[in-house]
Amino acid sequence: MSATLYINGAWRPATAGGTRTITCPADQSEVGIVSEATEADTIEAIQAARAAFDSGVWSEVPAAERGDFVLKIADTLAERKEDFARAEALDTGKRIVEARMDMDDIIACFRYFGKLADADAGRVVDAGDPNVASVIVHEPIGVCGLITPWNYPLLQAAWKVAPALAAGNTFVLKPAELTPHTAILLIQLLEDLGLPAGVANLITGAGANCGNPLSQHPDVDLVSFTGGLTTGRIIAANAADTVKKIALELGGKNPNIIFADADFDAAVDNAVNGGFVHSGQVCSAGARIIVEESIAEKFTAALLEKAEAIRLGGPYDAAAESSPLISAEHRDKVHQYVQDGIAEGVRVRCGGRFAEDADADHDVAAGLSAGYYYLPTVLDQVSRGMSVVTEEAFGPVVTVETFRTEEEAIATANDTIYGLAGAVWSKDTGKAQRIARKLRHGTIWINDFHPYLPQAEWGGFSQSGIGRELGPTGLAEYQEAKHIYQNLAPAVTGWFGPENSN
Ligand code: NAD
Repeated sequence: MSATLYINGAWRPATAGGTRTITCPADQSEVGIVSEATEADTIEAIQAARAAFDSGVWSEVPAAERGDFVLKIADTLAERKEDFARAEALDTGKRIVEARMDMDDIIACFRYFGKLADADAGRVVDAGDPNVASVIVHEPIGVCGLITPWNYPLLQAAWKVAPALAAGNTFVLKPAELTPHTAILLIQLLEDLGLPAGVANLITGAGANCGNPLSQHPDVDLVSFTGGLTTGRIIAANAADTVKKIALELGGKNPNIIFADADFDAAVDNAVNGGFVHSGQVCSAGARIIVEESIAEKFTAALLEKAEAIRLGGPYDAAAESSPLISAEHRDKVHQYVQDGIAEGVRVRCGGRFAEDADADHDVAAGLSAGYYYLPTVLDQVSRGMSVVTEEAFGPVVTVETFRTEEEAIATANDTIYGLAGAVWSKDTGKAQRIARKLRHGTIWINDFHPYLPQAEWGGFSQSGIGRELGPTGLAEYQEAKHIYQNLAPAVTGWFGPENSN
């Protein structure tokens, strides 16, 4: 299908006729051909969303009914789970089992916001005067530009679309250019469920080429972006001219602190999960392992054994445990990151190579040369300030640092411009809680790694972003709070005139 722009309730190709072929990163097989939008297409989509919002066709639907609609999305996604999971697996190259797990999270997200839609109608404010009725009402923010990345394409879209619809907004969704198919399926589903024309609009195409109007156009009220720090800075700068609200979910350089008194096997196992799930293409990947010096040698040995045994493979390879990187360009970037580390003096303990260059003893699947596979990589002899511990790799690369004291562990974990997520491993719950409070990151796991809940806020401190998704705050991002103050006994104030003279 190449008519993949959905504007004002109609599917159509890009006005300039551009298309893009989507290929599976596991073997470069063709997945589909989609429209490549231009700025003009995006502006048209914004205008459709504006007109739909201003008409009240969605914003004036009772919140409970909007919530029912969002719950219906969840039910339909559950019925069509396999179609969506397959599309996601082929676009991203991730294993079908992981794509199915993503679907469970996506369905849970729609359910959560469906139930939340009418849970908070605002509040009465005590003005301290019986002749005043003062209330805060929550209204939809308006037209939302929703921009999403390629690592968890539909999940990241769900975190935005579900609260945007629940709150009564209209939107233009722009998925990452490499992974558009589940966004297309989602919009088809919204159309099938009868969402009025203009409420949901879809633009497929490359970043700045078609994305710029979403942060620049005066008719967009909020731009919610998930992606890299560099793009996030551009979006924030673009949005400044029209003083739009911005929500930014950016990268992370996430610490995983392991104390000597942790459950050793669980900590090793979760360090492997934290670093290598989805080949490390996870914003909250535990890329920075910070381990107490007394167990560092034993811990690193156990980590290496597990990392070297990870089998790589495509979406339907039943033996695969992890997947390819998204593109040749991204794999080159990850490899360069490792090379820069080597130039700075780090030691490569395993990996550091494309999968096809693996040693015979590395237990990876055969025939991976058509995909963008990179071996799970462990680096040590690392010190604070090196690029491998300051920059996000967004690939299967972890570093091992050591500490001797709690203070040193905290200082190392906080020594980053990011602040998305982190973990602490210890059987001493007091110590773990103490440290959790001192870490400057938006999510802290104690004795776990990676779980998140739709009912709990997600987002970054510092340069990991602005605002929160999920939880009640994730709905509030899509609302304006309006104060309505009513004087029940209007009278002359006498402010001006003789009554008020000194
Ligand atoms: P990216 O910044 O390259 O692209 C993200 C999206 O922005 C894509 O849709 C892209 O087309 C679009 N884009 C690029 N330039 C644009 C512009 N000028 N105007 C409008 N849109 C533009 O990021 P990516 O490589 O797709 O994703 C990886 C990054 O996303 C990593 O840094 C990762 O940490 C981050 N991420 C963060 C979270 C989170 O929850 N904090 C979740 C997932 C991914």
